[in-house]
Amino acid sequence: LFISFEGIDGSGKSTQAQMLAEQLRAEGFDVILTREPGGSPGAEEIRALVLQGDPDRWSAEAELLLFTAARRDHLERTIQPALDAGKIVICDRFADSTRMYQGLSRGDLRGAVDTLHQLMIGIEPDLTLLIDMDPAAGLARAKARATEEERFEDFGVDLQEKMRAGFLELANEYADRFRVIDGNRTLEAVSTDVRATLDPHLER
Ligand code: C5P
Repeated sequence: LFISFEGIDGSGKSTQAQMLAEQLRAEGFDVILTREPGGSPGAEEIRALVLQGDPDRWSAEAELLLFTAARRDHLERTIQPALDAGKIVICDRFADSTRMYQGLSRGDLRGAVDTLHQLMIGIEPDLTLLIDMDPAAGLARAKARATEEERFEDFGVDLQEKMRAGFLELANEYADRFRVIDGNRTLEAVSTDVRATLDPHLER
């Protein structure tokens, strides 16, 4: 079972991915929690290349190729072996983030994103949990914890709103695998909803 978490910066998706992994482990499932960009040694190196240092170092096109290379390595080394071994894979961001960041916010590259995905990646998660969050609140959270090392783009509320709308559109486009969760609630309330969406996938 392959599950991804998506959402705008500050939506709480990383915390929810972590909470879900812990809960499923407590229930006795074999779970790996991983993230993008990154999730394998090579892909983590690419993450550092893109997210650290000068934000204008790479064009949107070059960045798309780097992130696709990272995803391919992550898939080969981490995700596919775990799925083959029957584990539950929880991934903090996957290809939908590329559809949004490289495809929408940083360049108008959605067509290229989809073509590359088809050529080089091929798989989609069984279930994608979109943690939907008020853009202003998400931005405030993301700013509060921004670090020196990694790029944090202060999108401003307008672009954050555009990203939120883009994710909701994506959820319509891939309605079979997306579930939208209201992230504007307590961690526990969100986490309970997240766990409930898995029930149909965990029948044993
Ligand atoms: O998920 P996380 O907050 O670690 O992502 C860090 C940053 O990486 C995001 O704020 C976004 O700017 C960038 N990112 C990106 N393209 C992706 C995934 C993440 O630009 N496909």
